[in-house]
Amino acid sequence: MAEEKQKVVIIGGGIAGLTSAFYLQKKIKENQLPIDIQLIEASHRLGGKLQTVRRDGFTIERGPDSFLARKTSMIRLAKEVGMDDQLVHNSTGKSYVLVNNKLHPMPGGSIMGIPTEIGPFITTGLFSIPGKLRAAADFLLPRSEAGKDQALGQFFRRRLGNEVVENLIEPLLSGIYAGDIDQLSLMSTFPQFYEVEQKYRSLIIGMKKSTPNQAKQPVQNKPTKGAFLTFKTGLQSFAEAIEAKLDPHSILKGHKVEKITRMNSQYRIFLNNGEEMTADCVIAATPHQITQSMFSDYRFFDPLKTVPSTSVATVAMAFPKEAIKNDIEGTGFVVSRNSDYSITACTWTHKKWAHSTPEGKVLLRCYVGRAGDETIVDLSDDQINKIVLDDLKKTMDITMNPDFSIISRWKNAMPQYTVGHKQRLATILEKMKQELPGVFLAGASYGGVGVPDCIDQGEAAVKGVLEYLKI
Ligand code: FAD
Repeated sequence: MAEEKQKVVIIGGGIAGLTSAFYLQKKIKENQLPIDIQLIEASHRLGGKLQTVRRDGFTIERGPDSFLARKTSMIRLAKEVGMDDQLVHNSTGKSYVLVNNKLHPMPGGSIMGIPTEIGPFITTGLFSIPGKLRAAADFLLPRSEAGKDQALGQFFRRRLGNEVVENLIEPLLSGIYAGDIDQLSLMSTFPQFYEVEQKYRSLIIGMKKSTPNQAKQPVQNKPTKGAFLTFKTGLQSFAEAIEAKLDPHSILKGHKVEKITRMNSQYRIFLNNGEEMTADCVIAATPHQITQSMFSDYRFFDPLKTVPSTSVATVAMAFPKEAIKNDIEGTGFVVSRNSDYSITACTWTHKKWAHSTPEGKVLLRCYVGRAGDETIVDLSDDQINKIVLDDLKKTMDITMNPDFSIISRWKNAMPQYTVGHKQRLATILEKMKQELPGVFLAGASYGGVGVPDCIDQGEAAVKGVLEYLKI
């Protein structure tokens, strides 16, 4: 008699769910495990936020455009699916921060805005003399209380002063989360800064000692190998390559999971078309709002209801080269909140990622929307295009309208790890172990928002499943 198979249902076909499906299938094949996989995705495509438009020779990312090369799980997965030959590093060059409506080069030697070279910080026009003196207090200030979470803003304001935070650190860090640094948790977003402070006391000295040169803003604009990677064919092609390795029978697209309940040692999974299935294990790789509503019978998920997610839009504009008159050398800029701009960042994509743009063209990719300033995302395409173009014209001499633009709205898409995030999550995970054994969470809402972080979580969920099933 054939051995009865265990069933693992993975919900959500973004990178976290895809990774889980890939590594679980690999383990099943390698070890002949009696397990069936079912990946359920609400939309008609896999990849979630990994979306690329290829048009007129351009490769345009709607969502993420790259990942940190030092986070190796993504490179490993790329090798597994035969995509490593498509990986490409970013070109480095000057980058800028727009403060009080003026572009300033990023001070050399800075890491996420934290100075590690004294010279460039003394000469930069980004801060006043009192602002620079205040930052130097970092050399003397004591450590924060050990083990206690605090807001990123509070941490940096105490160490380096408000001016360095507002003119440099805030625009850089809040760009990653589209968040409010006075709400975001230090321990869940940048625990490395806390650890450096605990080890070296001074953030400036600690970052200098503990960071490889590659991660620092180049001094005197020396070209170095970029710290980011992407795929020449676009990030969506990575998701497609993973999908191509999966057994097509294990994938169910266009089906939403609405509810999950426990039934003895199994789970009942209710779909939006009225169908129902059972599972021995579940990996919920969905955004936290969805996860909470799927498990709404279990009140311990309720804290997820109040975890905010911000909305942003990316706006890619393609121009002929001659449309830009005073081309600025560099790869892009971030915008401080004290500037009278609606865009929050702009990448000169044709320079940072040469493969993205055909010869003779220019590709500018901007962000709009951030915590406390999200209504712009709901404006019409025409309105957004006008606002973005007006902002760009303040920094560059643009003489023509774009050949085309691509606006991608990401509503409630950037989960905010507010102060206490780790503790809240730990409490939920503990409760899950007791009340929902065999259910695992993965994805951007939980243990890191970067694409490689989601891959790590997808892999960890597979480990959890195999340990739980004891096979
Ligand atoms: P998602 O990609 O959101 O996937 C979740 C999936 O679940 C979706 O496909 C959804 O359709 C599906 N789903 C939802 N509800 C249900 C349901 N009820 N039933 C079944 N399926 C369901 N990260 C970087 O590393 N580098 C970057 O440059 C970068 N830039 C970014 C730019 C933008 C504009 C955004 C929005 C994010 C960016 N990120 C970046 C973050 C990163 O892209 C995401 O955190 C990551 O892709 C999330 O993957 P995920 O699998 O957790 O979730």
